[in-house]
Amino acid sequence: MLIGQKEKGIFINGEWREAYSGAYRAITNPATLEKLTEISYGGKEDALEAIEEAKAAFPSWSKKKTARERSRYLYKAYEKMLENKEQLAQILTSEQGKPLSEARTEIESAASYLLWYAEEASRVYGEIIPPSNANKRSLVIPQAIGVIAAITPWNFPASMVTRKLGPSLAAGCTVVLKPASQTPLTAMAIVKLFEEIGLPKGVLNLVAGDARAVGEALTQSPDVRLITFTGSTEVGRDLMKNSSQHIKKLSLELGGHAPILVLEDANLETAVDLTIASKFRNCGQTCICANRVYVHQKIAEEFIEKLSEKVKNLKIGNGNEDSTVIGPMIDQNAVEKVTEHVEDALKHGASIVAGGKEWNGGLGGHFYEPTVLVDVNERMKVMNEETFGPVLPIETFDSLEKVIEKANQLPYGLAAYIITESTNRLFQLTEALEYGIIGVNDVFPATAEAPFGGIKESGFGKEGGKEGILEFVEMKYVSIGMT
Ligand code: ADP
Repeated sequence: MLIGQKEKGIFINGEWREAYSGAYRAITNPATLEKLTEISYGGKEDALEAIEEAKAAFPSWSKKKTARERSRYLYKAYEKMLENKEQLAQILTSEQGKPLSEARTEIESAASYLLWYAEEASRVYGEIIPPSNANKRSLVIPQAIGVIAAITPWNFPASMVTRKLGPSLAAGCTVVLKPASQTPLTAMAIVKLFEEIGLPKGVLNLVAGDARAVGEALTQSPDVRLITFTGSTEVGRDLMKNSSQHIKKLSLELGGHAPILVLEDANLETAVDLTIASKFRNCGQTCICANRVYVHQKIAEEFIEKLSEKVKNLKIGNGNEDSTVIGPMIDQNAVEKVTEHVEDALKHGASIVAGGKEWNGGLGGHFYEPTVLVDVNERMKVMNEETFGPVLPIETFDSLEKVIEKANQLPYGLAAYIITESTNRLFQLTEALEYGIIGVNDVFPATAEAPFGGIKESGFGKEGGKEGILEFVEMKYVSIGMT
């Protein structure tokens, strides 16, 4: 799994090769801007070939292998992943930047999706329906949907890959995987694990490369029956449009703008720690991380004081150092977006109580200080658009009704959080908030056994849980007339 100076980022029908165009792209460490390697940069032709091979492999993977046999491959990949945890975490941190401790947790989480779907593979049941006509019998047969494309983002380069590979391979689908251009190395390392455990050729294919060209091949091909995508709402919208020609099924996990509601009865220490954990994990580059806090007026002053003190002490640095809590952002565009959001907030009357500028600790990479803003209002970008960075705007509230309205007013509906000790309010709020995922005194809701997914413009489809595998299955209805 060691990384050489040049790497073949295309794996089709069991063979690693260069892109047909011969193009390569440098992969850099966002903390230091050091070049890690160059990866061959695939395009349309490479993607079309991957689809062809996935199509050829589909009949035997879906029908000749039993669910139990597919499960065994996933289980072996799960074990292999844990055996290689340290090395995978280091690759992940070097290309993505997050602190090593977070990268290790991500590898464990990534492996857990393989284990969960190794278990679920054997539990995709059909039905025999009691007929309304005595001379008929009605059956429902679950069948793998076909070739699927998985397009994954850079913020969780390992777990977003296995969250898609686990259920799709378990269901009997064959896969073309396109990882994010910034983080192909982790995806390649995961594909290598599947190669090592002897996954049949053509079942899993990888095309690292040009997003637009590969994306076009995947959406335009009638042979790709489903696209599972995690990324921005903007790209999700394009994929949806482009998939309409062949009426492709989609599973889209898109942007979010998560509110945290800190109620007056909240335990203050818990509220502060959970808010920091939610906002600043992965340097705020998480689709379910807190984008805005609404804290009850009665506890606001103390909450803001305690929180900003702790935020000022978060250690910024290279993710490969144990003491680092805040790593780099993925690239300079990300830093610029954060800068723009903070400037816009200041222009509209916000005040900074922690951070507020780029960090230059001499490492050379893309850093921004963890930042807390108060006196915020709805005209500010930070309160409306996904900042995807370490900026936390805090607003106060005094009425639950009004705060629910505020929490629901954006077009996003991925995750929302409530910090409270009151079970009565808990039910009132969880039912009123228009989000696919609600964390109550919990800011890490993603787990293999539960259905993760958004509503509204945050997308549709579930990943994780027993629901996750059903995305990749057609329920075929068979009506039998008895003569
Ligand atoms: P982010 O803002 O997290 O970078 P993107 O939506 O831009 O999110 O990227 C998520 C994934 O979608 C990445 O793998 C990226 O390469 C891919 N992607 C970006 N543009 C397209 C496109 N036009 N078609 C298909 N995939 C795309």
